[in-house]
Amino acid sequence: MKKDCIFCKIVAGELPAYKVYEDQNILAFLDINPINPGHTLVVSKVHSENIADTTEATFVDLIKVIKKIYPAVLNGVGAADANLTINSGELAGQAVLHLHFHIIPRFAGDGHKLWTGKSYASSEVESIVQNIKNFIDSD
Ligand code: AMP
Ligand code: ZN
Repeated sequence: MKKDCIFCKIVAGELPAYKVYEDQNILAFLDINPINPGHTLVVSKVHSENIADTTEATFVDLIKVIKKIYPAVLNGVGAADANLTINSGELAGQAVLHLHFHIIPRFAGDGHKLWTGKSYASSEVESIVQNIKNFIDSD
């Protein structure tokens, strides 16, 4: 548990939450300021800040629980579709520095916007691909 981490405090029962799923490693609860009804956060009980510093085992546990509860979250609010999101890091909009997935049920006309795409210059795209591949190979 990390001191002053809101989600660690929820895991420890020191702060209230509308819990929808709990097992030995993972907790899922409703977002307090939902984009839509049923907006659910899925966290590991062990604190890690982001994807880079979590363990593979913890990440797998998160994904397994998401697979398990996803239909229930959607069914619970009568949604057919959802966005599954991680905001990883401050520039990506991560406000709570305890790794969490958002399951965001979507409804027709709910007004939630997705990103708009940009284009690559062809010189740029080649070097980006190479940089990524080099980093993977060096790992
Ligand atoms: P992020 O920007 O990805 O870090 O998202 C953090 C999310 O946590 C936001 O959607 C908040 O509404 C939500 N949140 C913050 N505090 C609480 C809380 N005590 N209980 C439930 N959700 C919370
Ligand atoms: Zn934490």
